[in-house]
Amino acid sequence: MSRFIATSAIQGAHAVFNEAEQLLAQAMEKLGPDTPVAFPNTAYYLPVIYSFTGHKVERLKDMAWPLEHARALLPPVPQDNLWLPYLGETLDSGVATLFAEEMIEGIRFALGEQPEVRNGFTYNGPIDDVQMRSWGIQMVDGRMPGFAALVGVAKSNEVAVKIVRELQSKGQLIFLCGNVNGRSIVDQLLEEGVELGYDTFTVPFGSDTISAVYALGYAARAAISFGNVAPGDFRQILLYNKFRCFAFVLALGQVDDLKYATAAGAISYGFPVMADTVIPNILPTGITQYEHVISLPFDDIPGKDDLERAERLVQRCIEVRGIKVKIAKVPIPVAYGPAFEGEVVRRDNLQAEFGGKGGLCFEWLTMKDMDEVEDGKFTVVGGDLDAFEEGAKVPLGIVVEVSGRKMQKDFEPVLERQIHHFINGAEGIQHIGQRDIAWLRFSKSAVAKGFRLKHLGDILHANFHNQFGAIVDKIQVTLHTDKAKVQELIEQARVVYQERNVRIAGLTDEAVDTYYSCTLCQSFAPNHVCIINPERVGLCGAYNWLDCRAAFEISPRGPNQPVPKGKVIDERLGEWEGVNQFVYEHSGMNVERFTIYSLMDSPMTTCGCCECVMVIIPEANGVMIISRDDYSMTPCGMTFTTLMGTVGGGMQTPGMMGHGKYYLLSKQFIPVQGGIKRVVWMSQNLKEELGEELKEICAAAGEPDLLDKIADASIATTVEELLPFLEEKGHPAPSMESLI
Ligand code: SF4
Ligand code: ZN
Repeated sequence: MSRFIATSAIQGAHAVFNEAEQLLAQAMEKLGPDTPVAFPNTAYYLPVIYSFTGHKVERLKDMAWPLEHARALLPPVPQDNLWLPYLGETLDSGVATLFAEEMIEGIRFALGEQPEVRNGFTYNGPIDDVQMRSWGIQMVDGRMPGFAALVGVAKSNEVAVKIVRELQSKGQLIFLCGNVNGRSIVDQLLEEGVELGYDTFTVPFGSDTISAVYALGYAARAAISFGNVAPGDFRQILLYNKFRCFAFVLALGQVDDLKYATAAGAISYGFPVMADTVIPNILPTGITQYEHVISLPFDDIPGKDDLERAERLVQRCIEVRGIKVKIAKVPIPVAYGPAFEGEVVRRDNLQAEFGGKGGLCFEWLTMKDMDEVEDGKFTVVGGDLDAFEEGAKVPLGIVVEVSGRKMQKDFEPVLERQIHHFINGAEGIQHIGQRDIAWLRFSKSAVAKGFRLKHLGDILHANFHNQFGAIVDKIQVTLHTDKAKVQELIEQARVVYQERNVRIAGLTDEAVDTYYSCTLCQSFAPNHVCIINPERVGLCGAYNWLDCRAAFEISPRGPNQPVPKGKVIDERLGEWEGVNQFVYEHSGMNVERFTIYSLMDSPMTTCGCCECVMVIIPEANGVMIISRDDYSMTPCGMTFTTLMGTVGGGMQTPGMMGHGKYYLLSKQFIPVQGGIKRVVWMSQNLKEELGEELKEICAAAGEPDLLDKIADASIATTVEELLPFLEEKGHPAPSMESLI
């Protein structure tokens, strides 16, 4: 606790208390003790006093009790050097200050001195009940995160306007009051022609610090009205405000004793106080959620000019209060919504594409420290959509950096997987795949309407804030189209993808009694359900069992639900009652059974995201596996694309199944069919990518040379070519137990 702040606040409290006491005595004498006292169009008496004590002030004489109550709260002004500042005393003086301030305003109303008119402008004074209810509902349902009380005067008119605009863009309600040497932020805004009032979410309370008490009165009324808190139950009122009303105070310009005293009152409500001047900081003790008082000297804020400094000042305030920003509308020049999720951009309407056949494209989400991420910063490195010729295929790297007080490394893959769904919501933009097999197509019409790569940043920013605000506070996005840079970054990203893949190694299906579901793809394939067990990744390759567990932790009602295995039906097939029941209920009652270990008997359904598809080749008594980035013909007579057309819509097709690349390395790789020894044909790129690990798996299966016995497109693209090769190499599959 800062001795300086404590001393200033206690001095300020004494001064304002004396003012209230004198004013009350004068008013009693002048108007008489029975003169009514009320804030217009409100039904909560003097709301701070009422909410704290349950005491109703209806006449001047009713103020005698709260005055004595405030006097009792006032600690003595610290004088000797040995006095140790104590937070509790400072907070008490804050509450005494609020009582005194509210009484002063009440007396001013009784005296007819309110609402305040200054320089021809009429201030608002307290917010009326109708408005309080309308905003209160928006706060309770999350449309409006909270309010910012700006007290004093900004560095310049320009800065004042910028601060207000930034707060408005974040959906904050703004209260204005106070002055420094007679000049107030309200003057600054009026001079710049900024419209103030309920309609623009900016409420000018009054020109002095005392009117700041209306902000706390508003919070108190909201707690009584929406928090179901009884007047007098001050503990609940304060808790409600601390956790439900995301408010903070921003002191602009010099802070005097009265401001310190009022700030102490705000802190007792759980509202932190920020100042744009040098004052001592008060670190967390639990009264507010994080820090109590933070000094952010304006000129020390990094930024190229005052406007940028103002923007960062607001950003910092939002962080300290832990406000979760919601963005009502994704600010892009094309329509946005779930209706566009399944949309396809066809060749004749294609402006540009990234990734896909022969292309280079990846998306990578990483977690960073708070000060390494600038929220809402989108950078395009390299040419943008309008720089490429029509139909061009260009490399793209989407790098998303996030930070948040509750963010964890484990959440990275979960958030990264959302990119697919978020981007697909934009009209005229198609997104397929994930990680380093992402593929984006942009339509001519979207680009003609002004859509640029930067807007991908807008889409991700808005959606992460709105849907993952509980863990993500800041998001910045960089879009790379420079080939060399994309190449360099994709290598780094691959290392991370690989780390995520191996993290799960060691965990077995047997060791857990709960699997997880993923129904994220139901917007494309309505009946598709992925069941994810420790030894099999989701078929898109982006979600493993640990990721699903993390996703469930992030959003307990989200698309990844725990699926208790329940009673075992068939151990060998990997069939459990719990899984069957879940799949039945979540596939629109289309799929009745799911086995985890068999390709032939009720395998998992397949959606369009799969990294690979396996298909039986009955003539060879084996299976072939083609990966998404292999465009060759295969011995089953179909390419990857045609195969997707057959099984990709959420179908359950015995003998055909989509799966993640990494599934090939699983000890539970189609065990019912004999595991890796069944594979007679495999895409060349899989052999290369999984190389060494695959060899180990083969060796463990007793076939150390198996990889050389497995054909690929360079060896066979028909069954006729395949069979002699298998025979020549002595592949084990033809002599294994019959597949069918
Ligand atoms: Fe989830 Fe499966 Fe879709 Fe991957 S493929 S996002 S695991 S439903
Ligand atoms: Zn899918």
